[in-house]
Amino acid sequence: MLFLTRWRRVFTPTTSVALRLYHMSSPASSVGQSVPKMADKQSLVESFPPPKELLTPLRVPQKTLLGPGPSNASPRVLAASALPLLGHLHPEFLQIMDDVKAGIQYAFQTKNQLTLAVSGTGHAAMEAAVVNMVEPGDVVLVAVHGLWGERCADMCSRNGAEVRTMNKPIGQNFTLEDIQKGIEYHKPCMFFICHGESSAGVLQPLDGIGDICHKHDCLLLVDSVASLGGTPLYMDEQGIDILYSGAQKVLGAPPGASPISFSARARGKLARRKQKVPSFYFDMNLLSDYWGVGLQKGQPRKYHHTGPISSVYALREGLAKLAEEGLENCISRHQENALLLHQGLEAMGLELWVKDKAARLPTVTVVRVPEGVNWKDVASYIMNKYSIEISGGLGASAGKAWRIGLMGHNCTRDNVELVLRALKDALQHYGVRIQAKL
Ligand code: PMP
Repeated sequence: MLFLTRWRRVFTPTTSVALRLYHMSSPASSVGQSVPKMADKQSLVESFPPPKELLTPLRVPQKTLLGPGPSNASPRVLAASALPLLGHLHPEFLQIMDDVKAGIQYAFQTKNQLTLAVSGTGHAAMEAAVVNMVEPGDVVLVAVHGLWGERCADMCSRNGAEVRTMNKPIGQNFTLEDIQKGIEYHKPCMFFICHGESSAGVLQPLDGIGDICHKHDCLLLVDSVASLGGTPLYMDEQGIDILYSGAQKVLGAPPGASPISFSARARGKLARRKQKVPSFYFDMNLLSDYWGVGLQKGQPRKYHHTGPISSVYALREGLAKLAEEGLENCISRHQENALLLHQGLEAMGLELWVKDKAARLPTVTVVRVPEGVNWKDVASYIMNKYSIEISGGLGASAGKAWRIGLMGHNCTRDNVELVLRALKDALQHYGVRIQAKL
């Protein structure tokens, strides 16, 4: 007769010693095996010691993050994320979730009830939008003018949508005429467009797209991860049905909890689904019960998952800073500093990727790498000498551009001057002649 045995490894926190425990369905003697001897246990511990790298203190250098994100969080936001943990259903934490919801409604300029922060980064919010809205066979039209359209098209096809794309060269955006033609031709039930294409530094105007979509019974899904708070965006006014963003850009919080909101029209599509939302984690019906959407104050919330408590505190403070500064002031600060940066770069003889000034995204500026210069050498020089991050291109701009971000707490005149000086120094170091005095 065969008896099954299985073993379990136990790590004790104090000694990190690994032990093997045998769970036997019958006494050891009856299957001819014996409990391991002390010597065996010893050799097991030796063969799997605690990792040496964890026995030294955590070291994190201070860097100025002037890439496309994350941007540095302010001391106030960092202090919030270090506050004591609460239970994810404690009334105090539920109140903080309500604050976050109100903050997102303000940032998005929406009265939508179904507004919350999904656990995860911007991709999680994008995925949440797609899994809730898309059903197999749905026709979805995706505007691609950089990486984020490609990502959304990928997610929609993974969810069984019939994906159609309309494309523009990286650095350009879509006109209302392009969009109208696309929607009339493809007759999609959802249209995706990225407001702030951070891979190209392009700002896509949104006015009028909602009307075109709604005239053709189509939902409008917008990515505002890189644009929220840095350029005007009015969810209700612009007829956006699903809008999502991220925490680590203008909101200046660590990545981990991402704003999202659904209009009544989008909720209608959710309610009419023939199939269950294929993701448990991102199912907005279930998340609504956790975030108290539609519940009266005091009505019990339902456990869905353990919210990322510290990330929610940090997001709350990022949103509180936005509320204190005022959305319009925050947008103006981003526009003014971006203009200074653009002028400084052009004065140095550098070329911006986006030619049309009105189409330049204030939060992320894409600069062409001059002929004969290696983008990576320059970015590494700036990192090594100044501890400043500027990034390379992404998608079609990879290897050909630098991306400089001015977002949230980092969006200051001092940082504009700092990054211009550092870039000038690096280019001169690599033999580029720069005339402009900075
Ligand atoms: N959309 C845009 C426009 C972005 O800039 C980013 C992040 N760079 C994302 C989506 C994805 O966000 P995350 O990296 O936080 O998942």
